[in-house]
Amino acid sequence: MKLLWLQGLSCSGNTQSFLCAENPSAHEILSSFEVLFHPAITWERSEEEAVKGVLAGKEELDIFILEGAVGPKLRKIGGKSFAEVVKKLSTKARYVIALGNCAVFGNIPAKADESVSGLQFRFLRVGGLLGKGFRTKEGYPVINISGCPAHPSWLTYVLNQIRRGRRIALDELGRPLEIYSYLTHHGCIRNEYFEWKVEAEELGRKEGCLFYHFGCRGPMTHSSCNRILWNGVSSKTRAGMPCVGCTEYDFPREGFFKTKHVMNLPEELPLGVGKRAYILISGVAKSFAPERLKGRLIDESREKGSQQG
Ligand code: SF4
Repeated sequence: MKLLWLQGLSCSGNTQSFLCAENPSAHEILSSFEVLFHPAITWERSEEEAVKGVLAGKEELDIFILEGAVGPKLRKIGGKSFAEVVKKLSTKARYVIALGNCAVFGNIPAKADESVSGLQFRFLRVGGLLGKGFRTKEGYPVINISGCPAHPSWLTYVLNQIRRGRRIALDELGRPLEIYSYLTHHGCIRNEYFEWKVEAEELGRKEGCLFYHFGCRGPMTHSSCNRILWNGVSSKTRAGMPCVGCTEYDFPREGFFKTKHVMNLPEELPLGVGKRAYILISGVAKSFAPERLKGRLIDESREKGSQQG
């Protein structure tokens, strides 16, 4: 299968992320494809040669991956605007993948420029560059792998499904359900603190939940960050940093690291939880929180005592 990867308005974060893929590695997964062009990985032909080959019909294109947002001020390729090239490649490819929040929703570049968008969305507005009704030869809309950046295994999953000829079920934002049915909250090791409303006192600490003060968006963000760990070992919330909701359409938001409150209630409640239920349950939970959750997990004074003894 032939694959072509272009970068639009991008920081290359998704390429960097993908290069860290494990089991399989980026090399292993790409070895299953013929990569016609990738700006950082291939060297056999230039971007222009690769694009011209496909547009002239000399090369079939199975998978087109776009990393980064699209706007009118981008470079020309073979005399055509970048946006025109992306549109043409998308109609030729059997599968089109938008990789990362810029390619999916527009993200940071779209915040600064009205004319910039993602492939099939501009934030929550469906359409983007290719339009609402766009479908590939295989009948798919753009397969959106959101995230800033996306986890490498999320792309690997999609490529493997395509390679094996398996269907990929998508949510209403074009994201694979296998990855985005979950919330960042699922699998977070701070869940017990969340349930008993024990709040983190500081960023970077092992103890406490980051939802109540530090703006963690884990309970309303669709991602598998705590199910498929980063570098196989960790995630933001595991390391004591709140989830910033980077897989959602409204990223980036203002006010990271701070939970906005209205009348003592978080402005946004966990997905599907009503105000009454939240007030009732969290009030009871806080009153009955086990004492062991209120101290440090590792008591350094005890450790010093044992060394002296
Ligand atoms: S830190 Fe965030 S993801 Fe973890 S339990 Fe608290 S709210 Fe959920």
